[in-house]
Amino acid sequence: MQGMAKILSASLIVCLSLPVWAEGAAGGSKAPKTASVRLPGAAFAALETISPDHIRWHVRYLSHDLLEGRGTGQRGGDLAAEYIATQFAEYGLKPAGDHGTYMQKVPLVGITTLPETQFSLIPKQGEAMNLRPLDEYVAYDQTQQPQSDVDADIVFVGYGIEAPEYNWDDYKGTDVRGRVLLMLVNEPPSDDPRFFKGKALTYYGRWTYKYEEAARRGAIGVILVHQTQMASYPWEVVRNSNSGERSALKVEGPALKVASWIHLDVAKRLASASGMNLDKMMQDAQSHDFHPVNLGARLKAHMVSKIRNFESSNVVAMLPGSERHVADEAVIYTAHYDHFGIRPDMPGDNIFNGADDNATGCGILLELARAFGTAAQRPRRSILFAAVTAEEQGLLGSEYLGKHPPIPAGKITLDLNYDDVKPLGAPEEVQVAGAERTTFYPSVEATAKEFRLAIRPDARPEAGHFYRSDHFSLARVGIPSFSINEGMKFKGHSEAWGLDQEKEYVEKHYHQPSDEYHPEMDFVGDSAMARFGFALGWEAASLPKLIGWQHGDEFEAVRVKSQE
Ligand SMILES: [Zn+2]
Repeated sequence: MQGMAKILSASLIVCLSLPVWAEGAAGGSKAPKTASVRLPGAAFAALETISPDHIRWHVRYLSHDLLEGRGTGQRGGDLAAEYIATQFAEYGLKPAGDHGTYMQKVPLVGITTLPETQFSLIPKQGEAMNLRPLDEYVAYDQTQQPQSDVDADIVFVGYGIEAPEYNWDDYKGTDVRGRVLLMLVNEPPSDDPRFFKGKALTYYGRWTYKYEEAARRGAIGVILVHQTQMASYPWEVVRNSNSGERSALKVEGPALKVASWIHLDVAKRLASASGMNLDKMMQDAQSHDFHPVNLGARLKAHMVSKIRNFESSNVVAMLPGSERHVADEAVIYTAHYDHFGIRPDMPGDNIFNGADDNATGCGILLELARAFGTAAQRPRRSILFAAVTAEEQGLLGSEYLGKHPPIPAGKITLDLNYDDVKPLGAPEEVQVAGAERTTFYPSVEATAKEFRLAIRPDARPEAGHFYRSDHFSLARVGIPSFSINEGMKFKGHSEAWGLDQEKEYVEKHYHQPSDEYHPEMDFVGDSAMARFGFALGWEAASLPKLIGWQHGDEFEAVRVKSQE
């Protein structure tokens, strides 16, 4: 524990002897090859106060049974939010929520598709296919109305993607207003890193993008064809995540009356009843020259839903920047504070304490807030701290924050997010997946080096982890964003040990009541990740220019647009 702290200090002290914020000091255009962690003395002193014990105390409290699992829209979640706001106040940070408070209210809606719902595919010829819920289809009404009716043509639109940076357009200008769009999951298969990032999943492959794009174009429904290999998960996953209540932000823009999936067998039957062949359709969809095809079939649906309005809050604070002409720009730190609350129907321990997920991220966020807030000097740009809600409901709190940022997205230079940073001891690796897609990456590499942390690459980019935590909500509105976490190699242990810890956590504790605080947890790694993020944030807040995405990245266009 102490050993690690000493190593970090030693390495940072060394770099302090290098030029401090002297951008041209090495002789104009020739920037030094190995950039250093260029922290002014006061910042370095603040960084050194970041302590594993401070993080421990926050985690201990936030994951206590009394907080009832910090459920979104529940008492325990609200208590956690109040605790976080109180800490922000104590650190001298300014409120950056609604009406001069730390709270940004997030309007949420719970949608349950009721059994009265009817869902029929009417082929060109032959009998109507009245589908069975959960076995053959799942659907919910994104318009958040208690009842909606759909009777519309079905158009097959391949993958349902328009991606200018990959020169790909499934729609080809087809007017899909008022139509129901049948589409494939995932994205055109590729080994070429320049085409949909090769094997890695891009946002275009996620079903959320497909729904959003269809709604933007005025379609009233989407039917996704489930295929296990393409989706990378079986039908059971689709069924489970679409049964019961789903949460969403209160709808603000265009939305689908029917957002649905059908089983592969159903898709095959529909295709052949329309005189087509699903395998051939899937093949055709892989071509640049694909054009939408009207199946000559209709979807007739009567959607009946239970709609429950509720509310939660993001907790947002700001440290104003020291330099007037860039103080309207900011770095933001994020971590979600919600977890699953209490499951009253569950026997035994039914409190989802969420110690690792994500009291640890909150502890780090609060420790960063304290270090910045109490530093003798402030960075040039402002620093925002946001503890977001409803992550476990589908990144909803951060989605709302991205749509309603306290500072315009185009003026936020970087988001650093923390989610589930395990208290396992001193890390020798850091994970920063997505950082390599930003113009900030050279600084990240240099800082990792200063901290003696090897950057561990994403082991399974095809799983699309980048799209599954809160930084992604901010990337979507153009902000260069990534999460910081430990890798698998810890001091005094083999990599196999780290992988074992991960495996055991996923199997036994992830999203279960047993994700709890234990006194023997070692928060030195959380502290190291906080220090690493502090150095990165300070640097980002001080660079001459705002950070951007690499040329050709899928978020580049929205970034540029946000800065016009
Ligand atoms: Zn989680």
